[in-house]
Amino acid sequence: MKTFCGRANPTTGSMEWVEEGEDYDYHQEIARSRYADMLHDKDRNVKYYQGIRAAVSRVKERGEKAIVLDIGTGTGLLSMMAASAGADFCYAIEVFKPMANVAVKIVEKNGFSDKIKVINKHSTEVTVGPDGDMQCRANILVTELFDTELIGEGALPTYEHAHKYLVQEGCEAVPHRATVYAQLVESRRMWSWKKLFPVRVEAEDGEKVLVPPSEMENCPGVPSVCDIQLNQMPSSDFSTLSDVVTMFSVDFSKPVQSASTYYRVQLEPVQSGKAQVVLSWWDIDMDPSGKINCTMAPYWVKPTSALQWRDHWMQCVYFLPREEPVLRGEKLYLTACRDEYSVWYSLQKAREGENKADEEEHKAGVGVESPVCRCRAHLLWNRPRLGELNDQNRTHQYIKALRKVLKTDSVCLCISDGSLLPVLAHYLGAKQVQCMQTSRTDLYHAHELWQAFFKANHLEDKIKIIEARPELLKSSHLEDKKVSVLVGEPFFTTSLLPWHNLYFWYARTAVSTHLASSVTVLPQSASLHMMIVEFQDLWRIRSPCGICEGFDVRTMDDMIKDSLNFRESKEAEPHPLWEYPCKSLSDPQEVLTFDFTRTVPQQCLSTEGSVQLLRKGKSHGAVLWMEYHLAADISVSTGLMQLSNEKGNCEWNPHCKQAVYFFSSVIESEILSDPTAVTYAINFDTKTGEIAMDYKL
Ligand code: SAH
Repeated sequence: MKTFCGRANPTTGSMEWVEEGEDYDYHQEIARSRYADMLHDKDRNVKYYQGIRAAVSRVKERGEKAIVLDIGTGTGLLSMMAASAGADFCYAIEVFKPMANVAVKIVEKNGFSDKIKVINKHSTEVTVGPDGDMQCRANILVTELFDTELIGEGALPTYEHAHKYLVQEGCEAVPHRATVYAQLVESRRMWSWKKLFPVRVEAEDGEKVLVPPSEMENCPGVPSVCDIQLNQMPSSDFSTLSDVVTMFSVDFSKPVQSASTYYRVQLEPVQSGKAQVVLSWWDIDMDPSGKINCTMAPYWVKPTSALQWRDHWMQCVYFLPREEPVLRGEKLYLTACRDEYSVWYSLQKAREGENKADEEEHKAGVGVESPVCRCRAHLLWNRPRLGELNDQNRTHQYIKALRKVLKTDSVCLCISDGSLLPVLAHYLGAKQVQCMQTSRTDLYHAHELWQAFFKANHLEDKIKIIEARPELLKSSHLEDKKVSVLVGEPFFTTSLLPWHNLYFWYARTAVSTHLASSVTVLPQSASLHMMIVEFQDLWRIRSPCGICEGFDVRTMDDMIKDSLNFRESKEAEPHPLWEYPCKSLSDPQEVLTFDFTRTVPQQCLSTEGSVQLLRKGKSHGAVLWMEYHLAADISVSTGLMQLSNEKGNCEWNPHCKQAVYFFSSVIESEILSDPTAVTYAINFDTKTGEIAMDYKL
């Protein structure tokens, strides 16, 4: 079936009707899926296999037939492991149709068709009985339904249902148990993802401090999990205030309850400080003895953990509702609340001479409601964006640039979503400041937030919000004045890839008639940069698996390849590279420039050339990012911040995602005497706002 969906083009801003067949969705889902990453996770695979073998043996020792239920079979891997371990029959359930089809083919190719029945259903739709999907209930339950938060993919309700209807009492489960751990920490870096810090501006008439509205102070934020590669967070960016504590465990071999609940643990800080965030991860025991353990513990807890890289399971950062000063040795309670799909944390202080009654009272006081943003800031500013707004160095660059271009009679228009630039421009003396809220996501919240923000800083009549799209801007919006300074970070909430923020250029073009002939545009230009890299690990997510623990899963590799090539054009994908170390193999190269002092041209911008590979390594792909040239000598990079020359280690902007274009084949550059070159052709289509690229190795 084909449908047409209306959506705003992220770069040009124009509404377009896109044909979206069902095919498109599933190709996207497969192309960007984590299946490959899971199959590359050797540690996970080996431990599942060990756990499954042990469970099958235990059932056999009891003289029973081993009947396996594998919920969420994916490629069929865990069922094939069970069949190889001697299971008598496996029911492999998979809800995602393209995946279930692939599982059928893989099972057949590996010769297990008589032992494994693939059922394309959600597990809660599966029937048991002589005419049912399953002949009888299973006595071994195998699943891998976990996300970084453990329960975010619905593992609890799925287990709850399976124990009621699909497996026998006293069944074996692989994994047998999961345990969630937490550690209380202070971290300015991570806390900067939760709240806006005051911004200091040196103005002509003294220092101005921009403060967030008071509602933001105690706002619990949003419930969505913050999952990151904690192993990339240097120990200098946080300090641990407590030991690691066990928050809760789930025994998967017994009936599981998914209803909301909470777990409270007493702890004593090992250090005084400001409790701000809770870092959390889990481990799974594949068997009851706990000898086969697969853990997500970060490097400072388990030094060997970085050896097993994985992206499908990382670690979680939970933000406490408010910062809490804690003292070393004082008695605290850390509470993890959860509903069916998510977890959140709170911290309580134990009072002097606490007795049982107090404890009960405490329990009653524990909020079981999931965090809901009341201040609206968390709806408009996501975590990386808050981190970016809190980056003082970055703000300083903008202040320096604004100081250069603003005059006392400046009429300033700002085009960027949720930007502090209008306030900075006002503090720095612009006569008239207006901002255009182009946020194509949520104008109502944006407006309310700005009102609160202006009120908190007594700026109510100083800055005007224009609620019109650039093409609908009228002179009356600007009090019949021409704009003398047009500014943008630029940043737009709808941007996914770095060049989507070129929307600023299109908006600038749309408001051209309102600009004074001598207008200053800040940034004056942008440039697209590119570098060839070798990833330490990220290459795995797009690399074929071939044979996994002895099972041939190439059918899945082919399916992923087809989906990546769907509609012919291979695309670049956004990744926050501070989480994914890589080594540069070439120098960074400026490939295209976009002149904001002029309107968007009719014709395409294209470039071709070649880059030399200067270091030894595997070229996994090209990384692309934007740099904005704010004013003479002042530029900000949304990508590479620093490059260490001998080794090629890269430091990336910690707030932005960069574009990664994975090459379809990898070349190994050998040595510098005969440097290899990669040729490229890059085209920016000014009509569609799309960047197409092609590389030859
Ligand atoms: N077992 C495979 C794949 C795990 S990914 C492996 O370990 O390699 C999890 C899979 O479970 C996904 O394909 C998802 O579509 C499927 N899934 C999740 N919940 C499900 C449910 N309740 N019923 C059926 N399939 C489910």
